[in-house]
Amino acid sequence: MKNDCLFCAIAAGEIPGRKAYEDDKCLAFYDIAPQAPVHFLVIPKEHIASVAGIDDTNSAVVAHIFEVISRLTKELGIESYRVVSNIGEQAGQSVPHLHFHVLSGRDMTWPPG
Ligand code: AMP
Repeated sequence: MKNDCLFCAIAAGEIPGRKAYEDDKCLAFYDIAPQAPVHFLVIPKEHIASVAGIDDTNSAVVAHIFEVISRLTKELGIESYRVVSNIGEQAGQSVPHLHFHVLSGRDMTWPPG
């Protein structure tokens, strides 16, 4: 756990989040400012700053997170959705702890803004 990291604090249960799923490796919780009718985030419990911090020592959790996304969306009855991860300020990353947005429930445009 990294000090002063918002998502580490949510993963540790120190700051409440509206949980969608949890296991020993990851947590899914609903975004506080949803950008679609369904908008949750999936994070590793281990602190990784972004996709740019993934390497051969920690990449297994990413495969696990995508398994969770595939299963959880099916359980929620979601068939079409978008998975997004912003890396760095210019791309819109505001919380420096790896997270995958899962957005669904409305038409999406492409390319994203
Ligand atoms: P990003 O801007 O890609 O780094 O995504 C960070 C996301 O975290 C944003 O969509 C925020 O709305 C969301 N967020 C920030 N604080 C919280 C919180 N306390 N609980 C749930 N979501 C949050």
